[in-house]
Amino acid sequence: MDLTPILDSLNDAQREAVSAPVQNLLVLAGAGSGKTRVLVHRIAWLIQVEDISPYSIMAVTFTNKAAREMRGRIEELLGLNPHGMWVGTFHGLAHRLLRSHWRDAGLPDNFQIMDSDDQLRLIKRLAKEMNLDEQRWPARQFQWFINAQKDEGLRARHIEPSNDPFQRTMLNIYVAYEQACERGGMIDFGELLLRSLELLRDRSPALLKHYQERFRYLLVDEFQDTNAIQYAWLRLLCGTERKLMAVGDDDQSIYGWRGARIENIQNLPEHFPGTTTIKLEQNYRSTKNILQAANAVIGNNQGRLGKQLWTEGSDGELLSVYSAFNEQDEASFIVGRIQQWVQDGNLRVDSAVLYRSNAQSRILEEMLIRAGVPYRIYGGQRFYDRLEIKNALAYLRLMSSRHNDTAMERVINVPTRGIGTRTIELLRQHAREQELSMWQAACEIIEQGLLPARAGNALRGFLELIDRLDTETRDTQLHEQTEHMIKHSGLVQHHEKEKGEKAQSRLENLDELITAARQFAGSWQEDIDTEEGEARTPLVAFLDQAALDAGDAQADEHQDSVQMMTLHSAKGLEFPLVFLAGMEEGLFPHKMSIEEPGRLEEERRLCYVGITRAKQKLYLTYAESRRLHGQENFNRASRFIQEVPPELIEEVRLNAQVRRPLTARSPSEPLFQGGGSSLANAEVPATNISLGQRVGHAKFGEGIVVNYEGSGPKARVQVNFDDEGSKWLMLGYANLQPL
Ligand code: ATP
Ligand code: MG
Repeated sequence: MDLTPILDSLNDAQREAVSAPVQNLLVLAGAGSGKTRVLVHRIAWLIQVEDISPYSIMAVTFTNKAAREMRGRIEELLGLNPHGMWVGTFHGLAHRLLRSHWRDAGLPDNFQIMDSDDQLRLIKRLAKEMNLDEQRWPARQFQWFINAQKDEGLRARHIEPSNDPFQRTMLNIYVAYEQACERGGMIDFGELLLRSLELLRDRSPALLKHYQERFRYLLVDEFQDTNAIQYAWLRLLCGTERKLMAVGDDDQSIYGWRGARIENIQNLPEHFPGTTTIKLEQNYRSTKNILQAANAVIGNNQGRLGKQLWTEGSDGELLSVYSAFNEQDEASFIVGRIQQWVQDGNLRVDSAVLYRSNAQSRILEEMLIRAGVPYRIYGGQRFYDRLEIKNALAYLRLMSSRHNDTAMERVINVPTRGIGTRTIELLRQHAREQELSMWQAACEIIEQGLLPARAGNALRGFLELIDRLDTETRDTQLHEQTEHMIKHSGLVQHHEKEKGEKAQSRLENLDELITAARQFAGSWQEDIDTEEGEARTPLVAFLDQAALDAGDAQADEHQDSVQMMTLHSAKGLEFPLVFLAGMEEGLFPHKMSIEEPGRLEEERRLCYVGITRAKQKLYLTYAESRRLHGQENFNRASRFIQEVPPELIEEVRLNAQVRRPLTARSPSEPLFQGGGSSLANAEVPATNISLGQRVGHAKFGEGIVVNYEGSGPKARVQVNFDDEGSKWLMLGYANLQPL
């Protein structure tokens, strides 16, 4: 047996972990020390040496993308496809269980996954039905409550009702929410886990036994971020056998706010008997300077399990800190450096911009677009999150299951077809009173003639449309189904009406959806065990994937583009060139976290994650003034910058840059000072508007001035509005207010 590929590229400690006897193992080690590599090689070892069939192995990864990569790596190592192995995220694996055993799980066969947006929409509707004032009772708060309960494994019936009105209202919504989901055959992300846990634990001992016997080995990456229910799920599947390998790093636990528990690492040896712990200390990812900076920062946290990382690598370059005048200067600095990087012969895909919160990406995106630099955003506005795509998917969902209320609400009057709020209100009420889905309620209302003729006809027209789309495409291929729906639902005409760039991109996206459907059907293999019932139709499978692929799939994975993502999404990844943008007190550490030591430490771990993504070169940037969420803030540099030893840092000074005093700027002052910025500013002639400036418009809301042409009363400016997209406006008429 040739074990060279499996063992050769490992150090001693890594080899020990990979070739350990079949037993419970905990690999506890810092960033970039090869934990993920060990996990992959361990799987290859189990298959090749321990003769465990891939069919008996389950591996849990942090993203769907990581799961695909893991399969590829194992295939490389073994020279064969690990067919039958279960690899995926906790959510993906739970989903697979539920699809295979929907009946035992108490679900309809066409149950559908709701993403967090759908969930919020449903909650809003329920709160409205209960006459709860949105100001006082924000829907997000209910959403947060429901998800937190599910993460702890609690259903509404498990929660003691109390006299506290706050808690009682939360609970009431939870109850109504559970009923609505049940009725519509919809499940949210938390439900995937909770339901599959209940399936195995309470509903079907036979299934539990089957899977406990089937899976002879379970492996979990990023173990420090498992929450209570995921941990319970693992314990259940492992049973009393010794067959778990967990790899993780307590210093990278960053999901405490979502219920993740670092203690799971400490408890592991107690709950999983005979656990052997292995530490890895050599880092293979980063230069010495980067690693030292990471060690220094994380050293400020208390109560760590404690480990030091070292590297044989070179010192590398110093870390660069850039203090920008404002967020636009920061963005243009970053874009300039990326352009330089590419000019030097590097790939864009090897550069990453990481930031604390999603809202920060907008200005970076604008600068990248203006400079013509392609980029991808992980986890932000994903393709499947875009309005037109969600509309199209809602049509497909209704074609697949008429009882999906969320989908029905979304498109019942998109495009407008004369179904007004009064009719919709009536539908909701009828559905609620009769405990029906909205669709059933609509059928009944029409039958009983409860609507005025015009409204009744409009509603009937909608129901017939959906039925027709369904029957006309029954025997066609998935992409034909999709194309037919897009053409005949009225969505194309609807979006065409919007005009301008936005409409164009919406139509392109709809086209892209047809392509996505074609590609999906071409590569799709049913990997769900259909021990029960029918296999999924390609349509159902496609809709499942659209909901599940959350966060890590963008439309075009193949173009060479800059990688942009939040620090949270960057976990487990690595890039030669990394920018940590927005290193300011209040932003990072986030102002909500500064007061609480526990949360501050979580922010610091997040910073550690950020620093350790970098292989060769790391930039830390911050803006002396920043406009975010419509407010201008003046912040100090993040304490995390101060925590990096000064000898590891060089400050970037741009040639000929005039530093500006930190006083409020008058509206007519240009924002950019030229110098090293690749996007030297120009002021729109004879106005008080300058490029890059934020402005308000009575109809379109707030936006940023990105271009202009002409002068005097004929001048036109292009404004990128936050909500309305890009528009050209005549300055003379637009009455733009500088903000
Ligand atoms: P993180 O905590 O960020 O998830 P990790 O511990 O999972 O990091 P890996 O991603 O597995 O670390 O490895 C980091 C980098 O080091 C990868 O590029 C990997 O290929 C490389 N590497 C790991 N072990 C070795 C080794 N023994 N020899 C050479 N390169 C290695
Ligand atoms: Mg890893």
